Amino acid sequence: MAFESLASRLQSAFDKLRGRGKIDEASVNEAMREVRLALLEADVNFKVVKDFVARVKERAIGQDVLKSLTPGQMVIKVVNEELTELMGGNVAKIAVAPKAPTVVMMVGLQGAGKTTTTGKLAKYLQKQNRKPLLVACDIYRPAAIKQLQVLGGQVGAPVFALGDKVSPVEIAKQALEHAKANHLDYVLLDTAGRLHIDEALMDELKQVREVAKPDEILLVVDAMTGQDAVNVADSFNQQLELTGVILTKLDGDTRGGAALSVKAVTGKPIKFAGMGEKLDALEPFHPDRMASRILG
Ligand code: GDP
Repeated sequence: MAFESLASRLQSAFDKLRGRGKIDEASVNEAMREVRLALLEADVNFKVVKDFVARVKERAIGQDVLKSLTPGQMVIKVVNEELTELMGGNVAKIAVAPKAPTVVMMVGLQGAGKTTTTGKLAKYLQKQNRKPLLVACDIYRPAAIKQLQVLGGQVGAPVFALGDKVSPVEIAKQALEHAKANHLDYVLLDTAGRLHIDEALMDELKQVREVAKPDEILLVVDAMTGQDAVNVADSFNQQLELTGVILTKLDGDTRGGAALSVKAVTGKPIKFAGMGEKLDALEPFHPDRMASRILG
């Protein structure tokens, strides 16, 4: 379960504050020491933790929190609000282009769940009465094209593929024309992934971006890789200017470090979370619900 170990650590840190009639600065400091350790153990970025703890302390100690009737509850409320803010505050919706089709470029490293997530996103969009087109631009990974075709079949969305001999740039270009001609309103480009970030990959993605002029560039990263996911997001963002992040495998991520650090480190919001292998296991990312899940 997502955030499982962090949630239990924080709950025990706050048990000491909860329900107490009166608390002082020292007990807030003590609780925040435990929060700090819990966040570091959850693999949250070091600087993110430091800033977070400083903000909570400033709000909790500086205002009238300690003099309130339920100071313990008030401190927890401050932590809840700051956790929500840390993860982006509001729900970040997927873009809608003023003139259809909306073009979404899916990028990420191999194995992150990019192709599966492209299928999930198609299903999500269909539920919003949109008509997505899946586009097979990953011509390098054996079976990626076939995988997308199978996913398209499962969700009942058309798949545009030109095999593995045509360049991704050309595929993207023709896919856009196909979408316009067939009144499809979302074009989801499943681009190539590699095991590591390299120049060739970035160059190709930049070329695809150039012709497709995407409304969204969404990075798909594996939440279970913790700070590696954050570093990957930082690199992709510097190269491509992402519009958002999709965190996959949050269902298996008991720590939550990536979810808590990505927005603060990259400035880009988490738009969706993958919560399982099934095609309907994609959820819009709600920072407030995630914060409440962490605090129990
Ligand atoms: P790609 O190389 O990035 O295109 O990765 P794939 O889409 O092929 O996915 C790699 C593996 O991750 C597959 O076994 C997927 O079923 C799995 N996967 C993707 N998203 C999730 C998720 O949100 N939760 C879980 N548990 N598994 C996922």
